[in-house]
Amino acid sequence: MKMKQADRASVLVHGYAKINLHLDITGRLDGGYHSVETVMQTVSLSDDVILTRTQGMNKGGFSLLCDVAGVPTDERNLAVRAAKLFCERTGVREGVEIEIRKRIPMAAGLAGGSADAAATLLGMNQLYGEPLTIEELCALGSALGADVPFCIVGGTAYADGRGDVLHDFPKMPDCFLVVACAGEGVSTPWAYGRLDRLHADFGEQSDYRPRGVEVLRDALAHADLSRMASAMYNIFESPVLAERPVAVQIRQTLLDAGALGAMMSGSGPSVFGVFDDREVAEAAAGKLAELNLPSYVCHPIETAEGVC
Ligand code: ATP
Repeated sequence: MKMKQADRASVLVHGYAKINLHLDITGRLDGGYHSVETVMQTVSLSDDVILTRTQGMNKGGFSLLCDVAGVPTDERNLAVRAAKLFCERTGVREGVEIEIRKRIPMAAGLAGGSADAAATLLGMNQLYGEPLTIEELCALGSALGADVPFCIVGGTAYADGRGDVLHDFPKMPDCFLVVACAGEGVSTPWAYGRLDRLHADFGEQSDYRPRGVEVLRDALAHADLSRMASAMYNIFESPVLAERPVAVQIRQTLLDAGALGAMMSGSGPSVFGVFDDREVAEAAAGKLAELNLPSYVCHPIETAEGVC
């Protein structure tokens, strides 16, 4: 999470997208949540989140502006909820104006909302003299969404529980990623519903067995990008892509253009391709552009934290 202290009254934070190198369901938790096993990676595709203190005017209130239509600007926005939660937790009583310059496609499985929430928590902490530790920010973030703690910490991580319990994992080797998303967004509850029907709700009757992450762990430990690309797995990919022909076309285009591997991220429908060569990655993005499919050439980054 890169932060720029513009002045004492405002701060610019980059909220980075994530991709899943592995995403699987291991069962059910008390309360009905699915337990997941996932390996997430921060990528350089980011939103800008600008926070401005508004003492006097708008005292104690939270307003949000976003340059992309369709993003909620009220309390449904995770950034607004994050700012409110931060103020409740720390006793800050000022108003805050939030501006989001959005580049991460929405409802795409790239954790755009969670990235903005994480950026807001880190930015609020910066604006108000860092009253909370990273662990405390993660605990707040976890109440907003399972991906928020990862978006606060960033890099490469293994997560279980709801996806919010983070563990170390070997880091992803340097490479180039082409991320593309086209067509209607996917609602995460809808995607879970499809999987529940396929796998007897992941209850006692289910014969589904999670695949495990050992091959992926070993590939990363040896910085073997090709092996990593063939070890990637996402349980959502097959049922979601069955309903998203454009995402299938994106994946095939990336593979035909020389990707070492290509897979859907999260609950989709975004798809990423892994490349060991910048020119090949850029040519793949060019092929997608010829098909009127926008994409981003980006790369893995090691941490979401850091003041610049
Ligand atoms: P998830 O897997 O967490 O459901 P996602 O990564 O697939 O999410 P997001 O871009 O986070 O997708 O959007 C999911 C929904 O969250 C959107 O449909 C939108 O209504 C809501 N949302 C709330 N805050 C934001 C935000 N700051 N940016 C984008 N969407 C947001």
